[in-house]
Amino acid sequence: MAERLPAAARPARMRWWGWGDPAHPPVLPAHALAFLGEHVGVARKPRAPVALAHVRVAPSALRAAVRVQLASLLGERRVREDHAERVAHAGGKGYVDLVRMRAGEPEGAPDAVVYPAGHEQLRALLELCERESLAVVPFGGGTSVVGGVAPLRGEHAGVLALDTAGMAQVLGIDGESATVSVQAGVRAPALERHLAARGLTLGHFPQSFEYVSLGGCAATRSAGQASSGYGAIAKMVVGARMAAPGGELTLPALPASAAGPDLRALVVGSEGTLGVISELALRVRAAPRERIYEGAFFEDLQAGMQALRAMAREHALPEVARLSDEQETRMQLALAGGGGVKGRLGRAYLGARGYARGCLTILGFEGEREEVAWRRRRALALVRAHGGLGVGRSPGEAWRRGRFEAPYMRDELLTHGVMVETLETAAQWSSLPRLHRTVGEAIAAALRAQRTPGLVTCHVSHVYETGASLYFTLLARQREGDEIEQWLAVKRAAGDAIAAGGGTITHHHGVGRDHVRWLPGELGGGGVAALRALKAQLDPAGIMNPGKLLAQTAP
Ligand SMILES: Cc1cc2nc3c(=O)[nH]c(=O)nc-3n(C[C@H](O)[C@H](O)[C@H](O)COP(=O)(O)OP(=O)(O)OC[C@H]3O[C@@H](n4cnc5c(N)ncnc54)[C@H](O)[C@@H]3O)c2cc1C
Repeated sequence: MAERLPAAARPARMRWWGWGDPAHPPVLPAHALAFLGEHVGVARKPRAPVALAHVRVAPSALRAAVRVQLASLLGERRVREDHAERVAHAGGKGYVDLVRMRAGEPEGAPDAVVYPAGHEQLRALLELCERESLAVVPFGGGTSVVGGVAPLRGEHAGVLALDTAGMAQVLGIDGESATVSVQAGVRAPALERHLAARGLTLGHFPQSFEYVSLGGCAATRSAGQASSGYGAIAKMVVGARMAAPGGELTLPALPASAAGPDLRALVVGSEGTLGVISELALRVRAAPRERIYEGAFFEDLQAGMQALRAMAREHALPEVARLSDEQETRMQLALAGGGGVKGRLGRAYLGARGYARGCLTILGFEGEREEVAWRRRRALALVRAHGGLGVGRSPGEAWRRGRFEAPYMRDELLTHGVMVETLETAAQWSSLPRLHRTVGEAIAAALRAQRTPGLVTCHVSHVYETGASLYFTLLARQREGDEIEQWLAVKRAAGDAIAAGGGTITHHHGVGRDHVRWLPGELGGGGVAALRALKAQLDPAGIMNPGKLLAQTAP
């Protein structure tokens, strides 16, 4: 029996020009701005985004006769062509999206936004779009940072954003099997609240948690901050339904199957290019009764990596495992300020040890009391065995409280003329230290070449037995009037260094449009051809999310 989530389960409308709830208070303290002024450089005058009315989008190309067909299929209220709706669906939340939006110049906008109510409507809608040559961009939370929701029409007469917010019901919980079935538009916080009321959790907490849809998470092979324990979304999807122009896939919830290659794994990561995921069955767990978040310091990154690798091998990993490199640790201590918990503990630690540097680690354990106690004891023993020192719960709790705040700070940094963006990869343990060095150097060299040297930081997270993810953050003074090319040069240098160093071009953000140029290098010509053949079957007219994942040419 479907359970409709209450209206309050819907997130606040996202700021069209940036991140999150428009009512959220500022988060950039004065001492942090002063630190950035000294080490990165900030604009002399803050630059606010333009007013919504000043955002330029071309008139909708949707023909009146097609609009009538859409409205008669979905209902008048589920077809929107107004300026605010088109702007809100004109891009995702990557740096380039934000720079363009704030200037009032998105690269385009969908001709209309449609809100289908469920699988059957979806199928009919996709048939109509194929017939009328309308490209379809599935749109969940719209938080893509790789151009995944860019409103590209390809060769088609128009482009629709297909917002899944109208498909947001929890369909049911199978308590015995520990699975929940949802429509793909359900937002992560709403699902967590629904599960928490029943003593359960999904355990999927990306930094973009407040806004993501479960369909979007599955479509991008997303990984949450607690993936070292709960696993990434790919581990959680046990069944799926997808509507495609060329047919549909219905993959029942099963614990495992040897019936050929796993089609669930093709749906997960398909990024809207094969069809629209309408429903998902997801593995859930008992809500944790114990949560211990704490900090530890290592003398250097290598020691910390070895400790995390040992924890993974011995099944002693915490749910959240994040190891900052020296630069990131220094920046965190500085941004936390003199009065900050991390700042005080960090300096005390470094002083007591006589280290000039150090690497802060956050270890977050969740689960049943006894099991957590065992795992934590073993993990802390491994921290000590690798020369690290536990510094108690304050840094862990501080991280947990602020875990969803960074995206708000990004908006304020842009206001102050700071280029700020992240990029990520993953590799085997044997390649990781070198990859950390070469990618960091490539980013720094690209920034220097533009005469905007800034800060390049990194942390290890999403830890596995065989390797881990590296997550880079860079901050540099914006080159006014040339912000986009400034970033693209850095991105190209970083992507090339990742490919050369044996890393994946993306561990969890997906390919979207931004990573297309590196995909053939990673999958090989045969791999890309196989994916194209699958697309030709499910989407013969090529209306599904053109220009993403399998684009013909690199951007
Ligand atoms: C500040 C910030 C922090 C982030 N942190 C993380 C993080 O910690 N971990 C992480 O993994 N990612 C992170 N991301 C990236 C992003 O949140 C993820 O890619 C997320 O999974 C996207 O979900 P969404 O619902 O917003 O999808 P959207 O952005 O709406 O769509 C993403 C892609 O999936 C497709 N899609 C969406 N819904 C469907 C559907 N029902 N069927 C088929 N295709 C669909 C879209 O067409 C698009 O190609 C972050 C992004 C931001 C802005």
